Amino acid sequence: MSTPIKDAVTMEKIVALCKRRGFIFQSSEIYGGLASTYDYGHYGVLLKSNVKAEWWRAVVQERDDVVALDAAILMHPRTWEASGLEGFTDPLVQCLGKCKRRWREDHLREAVAKGEAQAEARSAEGELHCPECGGDLSEPRNFNLMFETHMGPVQDEGSRVFLRPETAQGIFVNFKNVLQFSRKRPPFGIAQVGKSFRNEITPGNFIFRTREFEQMEIEFFVPPAEAGRWHEHWMEERMRWYTELGIRPDHLRLRAHGPDELSHYSSATSDIEYLFPMGFSELEGIANRGDFDLTQHAQYSREKLEYVDSASGDRYVPHVIEPSAGADRGTLAFMVDAYDEEEVEGRERVVLRLHPRLAPVKVAVLPLVNKDGQPELARDLYQDLRRRMPAEYDAGGSIGKRYRRQDEIGTPWGVTVDHQTVEDGTVTLRDRDSLEQTRLRIGEVGGELARRLGAEWRSPKLG
Ligand code: ATP
Repeated sequence: MSTPIKDAVTMEKIVALCKRRGFIFQSSEIYGGLASTYDYGHYGVLLKSNVKAEWWRAVVQERDDVVALDAAILMHPRTWEASGLEGFTDPLVQCLGKCKRRWREDHLREAVAKGEAQAEARSAEGELHCPECGGDLSEPRNFNLMFETHMGPVQDEGSRVFLRPETAQGIFVNFKNVLQFSRKRPPFGIAQVGKSFRNEITPGNFIFRTREFEQMEIEFFVPPAEAGRWHEHWMEERMRWYTELGIRPDHLRLRAHGPDELSHYSSATSDIEYLFPMGFSELEGIANRGDFDLTQHAQYSREKLEYVDSASGDRYVPHVIEPSAGADRGTLAFMVDAYDEEEVEGRERVVLRLHPRLAPVKVAVLPLVNKDGQPELARDLYQDLRRRMPAEYDAGGSIGKRYRRQDEIGTPWGVTVDHQTVEDGTVTLRDRDSLEQTRLRIGEVGGELARRLGAEWRSPKLG
C-alpha cells in the first residue's frame, strides 16, 4: 500500500534532489560558485536532452510544415539594430530603504496586478514599494540585458559583438535561405534550439531564470489574414505538448498579455504559465509578431524578405507566430510536476514520476544477490536492453536502496533477476508508479518495455 504525501514539492527539495542525484550543480562550485549559473550532470543532461528531443519530435518530425535550423550565437551587429533589441532593456528599480535590493519594475507591477499578497501589501494607490522591506524605490533605470564581447584582437567599437539574447533573430535573418532551399511556402515554420544569454537583473529560483539558458523557438510564417487562426493553433498545440508529457492540466494556464505588457513587436501574446513552487510563472510565450521582424530586417539589410507566389505572382510579407519556450524552465517544470513523496509499507520514498519518454534512464537491471549466477544473467539482459534504450545495471547495496535510487531519478521500470531466474528464466518487472510486479520470461523484457515506452501514459497523480 502506498499513501501519497500531499503537495510535497518545494524548490528546496528539487534543488537538493538535483544535487544528490547529480542532475544539476552550481557552476564553478570549487571556486565558491558563479551566481545563478548551473551545470548539468549525467541525469540532468539526459533529462534536458529528452525534453528537447520531444520538442523536436512534436514540432518537426510529426509535422510537415516546420524545418530545423541551427544559427550561430554571434550575429552581425546590425541584427540587433534592426530587431529593436539593441535597446533590449529591463526597467531596474532599487530599494532606497533598508534592504537595497534590486527589482524589475515590470515584475513588481505584474505581481500587484495578479494580487500577489506581499507585493500588494507593500504598495498603495499605484505606488510601488520594496516587497522585501517596504522601502521607497528609485526611479526606474533602463538596464541593458545583452552581454557584450569583441571579435578579433582589437577591442574597439568596430569589433563589438553581442551574445544573442534570443534565438529568434537567427531564424529571421535566414528566412530567405530557408524559403529557397526547403521547398516550403507559408504557412510554414523554422524551429531552432540553442543557448541565449541575458544579463538578468533578478536571476533566481534555481534554473527558472539564469543568465545563460537554452531556448526552443519556432517562427511560423503565415499569410497575414491567417495570423489569428495560427496563433490559436499554436496555443493549443503547445498546451497539449506539456500535458501529453505528463504535466497536470490544472498546473498550467494560458494568460493573455494586457495592452501595457505587450512587447514593441507584438500585437498579441499569451504566456503558458506553470504552477511553480513560487506561483504561476511563465513557461513559454506565444506571440503574434505581425510583419515587424521581416520588415525591419528587409529595411536594414536591403534584401527583399517576402513571399512571392510563382503561380499568381502575389507577393506579401508573411506574418509571424512565435512559440518561444525555455528548455531549462521546461525541464524544471517537468521535474516539479513529477516530484512525489509517499509512504510505502511504513517507509517514505521520493519518486520522480516522469513521463517514460522524458525519464533519463528507462530501465534498471538488478540482480537480487551478487552471487549464484544472478549477476551474469542480469548483465546479459542489461547488455541486450541498452542497445534499445538507456538502461542501468546496479548490483551494489540492498535491493531497497537500489530501488530508492532509481525512483529518485525517475526510472519507470526495474527488472530483478533472482534465484527463480536461474531456475526457470523468468524475471520480475517492477513499475515505478503502481509498484506492480509482473513475472515474465527474460526474452520478453525488451519487447514489453518497447511496447510500454510507445504506449500512452497518464500522470498517476491524475487519479
Ligand atoms: P521574463 O518576462 O520572465 O523575463 P520574457 O517574456 O522576456 O521572460 P521571452 O523573451 O518570451 O521571455 O523568452 C521565451 C522563453 O525563454 C521564456 O518563456 C522562458 O521559458 C525562456 N527564458 C527567457 N528568459 C530566461 C532566463 N533568464 N532563464 C531561463 N529561461 C528563460
